[in-house]
Amino acid sequence: MELLETKPAEAGTTELEAFSKATCRFCGSNLKHTFVDLGMSPLCESYLSMDQLNQMEPFYPLYVYVCDTCYLVQLEEYVTPEHIFTEYAYFSSYATSWLEHVKKYTHQMIDRFKLHKNSFVVEVASNDGYLLQYFVEKGIPVLGIEPALNVAKAAEAIGVPTLTEFFGVECATKLAAEGKQADLIAGNNVLAQVPDLNDFVGGLKILLKSQGVITNELTQLMRLIEQIHVDTI
Ligand SMILES: [Zn+2]
Repeated sequence: MELLETKPAEAGTTELEAFSKATCRFCGSNLKHTFVDLGMSPLCESYLSMDQLNQMEPFYPLYVYVCDTCYLVQLEEYVTPEHIFTEYAYFSSYATSWLEHVKKYTHQMIDRFKLHKNSFVVEVASNDGYLLQYFVEKGIPVLGIEPALNVAKAAEAIGVPTLTEFFGVECATKLAAEGKQADLIAGNNVLAQVPDLNDFVGGLKILLKSQGVITNELTQLMRLIEQIHVDTI
């Protein structure tokens, strides 16, 4: 009879870490280090209807790693973006303080980069058109790119042309071939939700005119730690 030898977890590692096959979504290194373990959780922004209350609901690990090569803090991907973002419950326009913030941003961009009726502004993950509407107001051509059909529809309804697709190299190449390259690309709180970071950022480069500008709004890790913003995870 042969005895099977099992490999014990290394000292200082949890079971999940010892068995993790997760790789960094930026540099591809093996993820070994825990940033924080917030237990199990159902999908965010996916609310249950009354008739779903007695059905089983899948929970996924909110187990956050930090990559020891590039220091990117990240979750492993358990669910496809198609599953999360095809029907999305978060409408950016619901928060009036957020609208004030992005309105100010659009006016700053128009002044600083002298945007006009022949400019072209794109927002990736444009949600319900909450931001691009203020460029439309000033007569500046825009395109929103938003995979969630239900929120994209709301954008179209307020006059923000929206392409219902996941953004990346393929989508950007198609737009560039149609002569649609942007003077300004905005991305607000989207990078943290992108599974294939390099494909997404590669797409931004293709979509941007040679003198164009990209602005990105993202969560800063130090502030997340200092102010214990675990809800953003
Ligand atoms: Zn990495």
